[in-house]
Amino acid sequence: MERLWSPWRMEYIKQARRLECLFCVKVAEKNDVENYILHRGKRSLVIMNRYPYNPGHLMVAPYRHVASLEEMEEGELTEMILLTRKCERVLQEVYRPQGFNVGINIGAAAGAGIADHLHLHIVPRWNGDTNFLPVLADTKSLPEELSESYGHMRPLFQVDGG
Ligand SMILES: [Zn+2]
Repeated sequence: MERLWSPWRMEYIKQARRLECLFCVKVAEKNDVENYILHRGKRSLVIMNRYPYNPGHLMVAPYRHVASLEEMEEGELTEMILLTRKCERVLQEVYRPQGFNVGINIGAAAGAGIADHLHLHIVPRWNGDTNFLPVLADTKSLPEELSESYGHMRPLFQVDGG
């Protein structure tokens, strides 16, 4: 009888998925500036979204390749929210938004672009910006624009105090 399930095969598939996962690749690379990684915590990082819905669209992602909150450990969950607070502070200082959307899309059906690796979105909002969102969503940000934002935010993430 053919064995349909074998642990070594699953491990191989998981490894292959990690190798092609955008978050895992960036975590492994030591090229934070070009990858727009603003901050590395103990177990999670803060990274800019290359295709932002609004200027200052950030993401917090655990280093581990996990797809849901269920798979995350308490320490990871706590740090993810503390880093989200840090993002709120930095964005407030740099962009002075009037509000934020903070959220996690779990699964492709929920709209997650990279469904296998959980990440939390922080999107600064301004009154009336919804009219521009569809336009911005279709527009690639200019690399210079992203680099400039990175330069403004990066130093603020290096400051101590959560
Ligand atoms: Zn991953």
